[in-house]
Amino acid sequence: MVDIMSGKPTAGADEREDRTGQPSQGVAVITGAASGIGKAIAEKMLADGWHVHICDANPQAVEAFNAANPKIGASHADVSDPDQVAALVADVMAKHGRIDILINNAGISGMTAPVETFDQEDWRRTIDININGSFYFVREVVPAMKKAGKGAIINIASTAALFGYPQRTAYATSKWAMLGFTKTLAMELGPQGIRVNAVCPGSVEGPRIDGVIQRDAAQRGRDAADIRRVYESQVSMRKFVRAEDIANMCAFLASDAAAMVSGQIIAVDGHTESLSNPL
Ligand code: NAD
Repeated sequence: MVDIMSGKPTAGADEREDRTGQPSQGVAVITGAASGIGKAIAEKMLADGWHVHICDANPQAVEAFNAANPKIGASHADVSDPDQVAALVADVMAKHGRIDILINNAGISGMTAPVETFDQEDWRRTIDININGSFYFVREVVPAMKKAGKGAIINIASTAALFGYPQRTAYATSKWAMLGFTKTLAMELGPQGIRVNAVCPGSVEGPRIDGVIQRDAAQRGRDAADIRRVYESQVSMRKFVRAEDIANMCAFLASDAAAMVSGQIIAVDGHTESLSNPL
């Protein structure tokens, strides 16, 4: 945490130097973070006193992010390309000499379609970005975390990983894979002081869920407003979450306040009751 008056980490915080010479809580890398949930996480982590570096596959979004957030490093990189991931991690290590936190956030929603007509290329791409990309990042950052004897990895899954999700087979499959990845890494890396948790956002207000609703409505020949009402009725709190709600959970999991929290799958969703209400 930072002192509000001085902007410096509070006394007692595990203040860490890195190669930039600037004190901070440590270095956090967040993927797919030039917009949406990742951007909210990056801004919250910066406010909490971390050095933050993001990547994103959309060059225009990276440019806009850079202009709006000069204190956050931002690179153009596609998480589904292992060479780009390795180059990005090498750049961050060259600049800071450490990576304390990795937040695997980059993800795409994939198509909405009955399984028998599900497009093979869409399936491959969804799995490639949503799960393989997280593996490529973990593989690159774990050596630095092991050397430090400390680190935290946060995998952004989804409430789609807590239920079956009809017609979203690629997405749900990729997010269930994220949970197996999380549990396994928590066991494998815990003895080295590295914590691994998964956060499952519910539907987050914003353009992404609007697109999902519109595609679902088109697929079913229904009105988008009707589909939105059905989605909201599946949540006990009867509303979608905000990107800031997810950012707050990630900031907690990254912090020393969560020093003994690992291997957990935490929904931030207002309590999703079902993803398969009859439409
Ligand atoms: P978004 O589409 O608003 O933002 C995702 C960002 O990731 C974009 O800036 C995009 O350019 C980037 N990206 C896409 N593919 C990439 C790649 N191959 N490499 C690097 N960057 C890439 O999405 P969001 O809503 O912010 O979702 C973020 C994460 O949260 C995803 O993993 C998503 O599955 C998950 N999630 C979102 C919701 C929701 O309702 N928005 C709900 C549950 C889970």
